[in-house]
Amino acid sequence: MSYLGLDIGGTTLGAAVATDGVDPVATATAPTPQTGVTKRLCDLVDRTCGAAGLAPTDIAAACIGSVGPLDQKRGAVAGPANVADETIDLVGPLCALLETDAVVLYNDATCGAIAEAHADPTTENLVYLTLSTGVGAGIVVDGSPLLGDSHNAGEVGHLPVDPAGAMSCGCGGEGHWEAYCGGANLPRYARHLHEAEAVETRLHLTAPEFTAADIFAAAGDPLADLVVERVGYWNTLGIATLVQTVAPECVAVGGAIARNNPETILEPIRERLPEQTFLDAPDLRLATCEEPVLTGALVAAHEHNA
Ligand SMILES: [Zn+2]
Repeated sequence: MSYLGLDIGGTTLGAAVATDGVDPVATATAPTPQTGVTKRLCDLVDRTCGAAGLAPTDIAAACIGSVGPLDQKRGAVAGPANVADETIDLVGPLCALLETDAVVLYNDATCGAIAEAHADPTTENLVYLTLSTGVGAGIVVDGSPLLGDSHNAGEVGHLPVDPAGAMSCGCGGEGHWEAYCGGANLPRYARHLHEAEAVETRLHLTAPEFTAADIFAAAGDPLADLVVERVGYWNTLGIATLVQTVAPECVAVGGAIARNNPETILEPIRERLPEQTFLDAPDLRLATCEEPVLTGALVAAHEHNA
């Protein structure tokens, strides 16, 4: 049996084919175009199947892990943030290409949670938190992924964490978690703290190439240290909300911001979390999977066909 896992990201599309179990025999990526994402994805599937020595119609089942928000009725992404396409049709075109109805569409972080749970089968309750351009979570509870209406559970980047609402979010809301801790928003948050609290800095805050990486590279700079401390605070509040809601045994943190700065991100949360949780603080660790979305999508495709 052959399975297909897909990763629909705001900047990159990924595909993986597994023929025995869930270890991929072929993978491929392509940049996410601003328009025509569906066509680019179908070409990528063709190419990945070809590299595995298969035709698309040899695939028994597929799972798509995608940026949200998802529209399950249409099998599509409805109004993605970083792509010009208003709707990205996924399930229908994939079913046609693979000539099967065994295609499921999950939020990408849900696939990450499925991958982490697969890697540690003794854990029944787990949160996979991704700290990347944005913030999101996948949740496995009682051994099953939490999907929610239209499979949109886990959009926790839009949890309100700051009642003062100092930072506005890309979604239009105020005080949302990812407005403070999403990689795309960190430069803006640094500029806000610089102005609001008059903190000295040698960071070039107004340079067009100023990014989150510059903040993490400037340890010892008063403003960089303040941003890291506040990010730790907001991350702790967001995670505490998840811990109280889900009662996970483990919170596995992935995404580029966490992977590139593991201790800078995780240590402040470990220190603060016990003060914010009514329940015992869960094991907080870096996610283990290198390709959490593709791995989780392959696991889900496999299980869908079981
Ligand atoms: Zn938001």
